Amino acid sequence: MATKRNILLIYTGGTIGMIKDYDTNALRAFNFSQILDNIPELNQLDCDIESVSFDEPIDSSNMNTHYYVKIVEVIEENYKKFDGFVILTGSDTMSYTSSAISFMLENLQKPVVFTGSQLPIGYLRTDAKENLITSIEIASAYNNGKPIISEVCLYFEYKLYRANRTTKLSAEQFEAFASMNYPPLAESGVHLHFNENLLLKSKQESLIVRKDLVTDIAILKLFPGISKNVVESILNIPNLKGIVMETYGAGNAPTEDWFIDLLSDTVKKGVHIVNVTQCSGGSVIMGHYETSTRLKEIGVIGGSDITTESAIAKLMYLLGAGLNKEEFVKYYQESLRGEISN
Ligand code: ASP
Repeated sequence: MATKRNILLIYTGGTIGMIKDYDTNALRAFNFSQILDNIPELNQLDCDIESVSFDEPIDSSNMNTHYYVKIVEVIEENYKKFDGFVILTGSDTMSYTSSAISFMLENLQKPVVFTGSQLPIGYLRTDAKENLITSIEIASAYNNGKPIISEVCLYFEYKLYRANRTTKLSAEQFEAFASMNYPPLAESGVHLHFNENLLLKSKQESLIVRKDLVTDIAILKLFPGISKNVVESILNIPNLKGIVMETYGAGNAPTEDWFIDLLSDTVKKGVHIVNVTQCSGGSVIMGHYETSTRLKEIGVIGGSDITTESAIAKLMYLLGAGLNKEEFVKYYQESLRGEISN
């Protein structure tokens, strides 16, 4: 007889557990037990489910690194006891949060699945039930005593993605997320089909939970006409440690001297600048066009096909790891959790 798996459900907030406040007409976070009451089908699943909830559930717009630490601590404390973890958060910042958690859990050997929904669980047309039920099935999917998934994933609307490859694309469609540079890890149809060759292999080492994240970072998004004043102000933010610079196409940026000189001075000061593309899909290839050659020469780090969400998470994580400059550049460009193709 198959072993019954133990799953821990961690509820942080988000639409999935919200109700309408009829005084204001706005959706607000509600009590977690309400969620379980709304899905009696959960009792039919062949696993034991326990749950913990943030005392005050949040809209994911209020997510921050203190909450990231709270989430990994719940996993750390319960790691031995449970076979899989399902984390419910709001979808708005789910790609940022799940990317960060993927870096914070080193040598993960159990499934961690993020999910949520576009409509609250109490609504007739809700997408919450399917998302939650299938996420629990994925978190409890084991083969020969080993979990099929041993990484941080995001499940939404019939697809399981590597979390640190995702981006929220739609505030309207049930299919809210995309993973433009990495195929889905699993698809749910009549059967739950895992693309096993795409999954991260679990390392046989103990879990290390990394909690030091540095938040003195910024995103510099380029646009035609961006002024020297704006670029200069961002690059001179006091105590700045790192920047994700969103460039055009394959990593291209203006070649004007004032722009390159400002970036070059910033790199010389020890601030890490990572080049990611504004395009939803594809990769930065510095040196491919003349408009990125100088970026490479002055020491801007090529972010390859990493998403902005994951680039931010990786910056916070590696800045907290106490690396020297060479190590930082090396690790940033390497795949640590499958977040980047090299
Ligand atoms: N505003 C909500 C949140 O991110 C949206 C959602 O849950 O999908 O918390």
